[in-house]
Amino acid sequence: MTDAATQSAVVTGLNVVGSERRPAQDGATFESRNPARHAEVVGVFPRSQAVDVDAATRAAVGAQPEWRRTPWPARGEIILRAAQILEARKEELARLMTREMGKVLTEARGDVQEAIDMGKFIAVEGRRAYGETVPSELRDKWAMTMRQPLGVVGVITPWNFPTAIPSWKIFPAIMAGNAVVFKPAEDTPACALRFVEALEEAGVPAGVVNIVFGFGEEAGEALVRHPDVRGISFTGSADVGRHIAQVCGALLKRCSLELGGKNAIVVLDDADVELAVDGALWGAFGTSGQRCTAASRLVVQRGALLPFTERLRERAAALRLGDGLREGVDVGPVINEKQLQRIHGYTEVGLREGARLLLGGHVAREGELAGGWFYPPTIFADVKPGMRIAQEEIFGPTTTILPVESLDDALRVANSTRYGLSLSVYTRDVRSAFRAVNELEAGIVYVNAPTIGAEIQLPFGGIKDTGNGHREAGRQALDQFSEWKSIYIDYSGRLQRAQIDVEM
Ligand code: NDP
Repeated sequence: MTDAATQSAVVTGLNVVGSERRPAQDGATFESRNPARHAEVVGVFPRSQAVDVDAATRAAVGAQPEWRRTPWPARGEIILRAAQILEARKEELARLMTREMGKVLTEARGDVQEAIDMGKFIAVEGRRAYGETVPSELRDKWAMTMRQPLGVVGVITPWNFPTAIPSWKIFPAIMAGNAVVFKPAEDTPACALRFVEALEEAGVPAGVVNIVFGFGEEAGEALVRHPDVRGISFTGSADVGRHIAQVCGALLKRCSLELGGKNAIVVLDDADVELAVDGALWGAFGTSGQRCTAASRLVVQRGALLPFTERLRERAAALRLGDGLREGVDVGPVINEKQLQRIHGYTEVGLREGARLLLGGHVAREGELAGGWFYPPTIFADVKPGMRIAQEEIFGPTTTILPVESLDDALRVANSTRYGLSLSVYTRDVRSAFRAVNELEAGIVYVNAPTIGAEIQLPFGGIKDTGNGHREAGRQALDQFSEWKSIYIDYSGRLQRAQIDVEM
């Protein structure tokens, strides 16, 4: 196919159920569309219901015992091959991603790269996945631990990192010996299908990774409730996450949640202002602000306020909005019309609350932007910590500037939301930097770098309402997908009672 043909081809996807490709049992379908040109259909996929989820889960239940018996290093080799296949297809996958969800091509390449990194990193656990051997309190007795899979796990993902987030979940899930039923976001099914195809080609056996396409309230809900699904790994909004936690709680099911953020960059008086502006631009407007780690608050100490605000406004105004496949475009569209309306709704909230609109604040309809869902970089100044625009996740290219007087004030304001994902500080003073690292309430803290930029070798996740204590990536990635088994081996040939027959 030529480049142009690849770029306009419609992906026709079916559910992946064991070794079969299946439509929804009732034949229903839905479309994914290009947010930069919403007339363009990117793919057509089954709109699955509970019965389809059940079929996929049965395939997973059937495949899991043999996969679990496959040695860890052999599973790791397959994952490594999958990462290499993604690497070979990086450009093709990135282009599809830009078409399907809008992020500019350089960022889409980064998204695929993150999945490649995750695969390579977790594959090594095949030869590591350490347990512990500890001394027993009794003679001729050993005590040790090993990881065991949960069985079948459900993976539910959002659209904003269509390859990276599935990779954070599916690679460690199968590394640990689980089988997966995957319900990707309804806005990015084509990216999800291509990811699973890479796994199949790498040699993941049929039934170990299954996909059911469809809507959250239908296929997603059925997956969460399915009795044979022992754990759910979910990334998405706080409202849906809270609901899933309630369902899983009642069913005593493992549930790992990565939810929203209201992240802040703190800029102190002694910061390198130009560097802080670089960070704010990338943090606030990368992926059109549709990142859980987006810098939607800029907490700026009074002495840096004027130069920082002026430079930020000037440089944000120069960012080019457009189709992310176009050379020179800095900011792509937002995902869909509902999200566009939600973002604009927050502009109206900010104006009503008395914040000062410095830039943007309207739906972009100039020229070919009219055919897509575009919102320009939007900046509010004179924002107070209690305002809704400073507290609620907007998930769009809107950021807010909150003036503060001192380091104490800055830390208090930065910590003043219900979320705790990613916070950053710009300063040249080592004492301020270390105090901030210690006192900022977040799962991830940056010094002299923006709130986005996580690498897969460290754990990723948040505190407070951002999650429920689990972490993805890093060596901790296996934790949500495995149980610890404690093993005692007594070779004394007699009954030895712990705590009673001890020699102390
Ligand atoms: P949603 O919560 O709307 O959706 C996430 C996923 O859940 C989608 O696959 C969705 O399906 C599905 N879903 C919706 N309702 C249910 C249900 N009742 N039962 C089971 N599954 C359901 O989030 P978005 O896709 O809009 O993603 C944006 C959110 O994700 C933001 O709040 C963002 O902060 C968060 N996020 C968090 C990250 C983190 O690591 N902390 C990383 C990236 C994003 P459908 O697509 O059909 O609606």
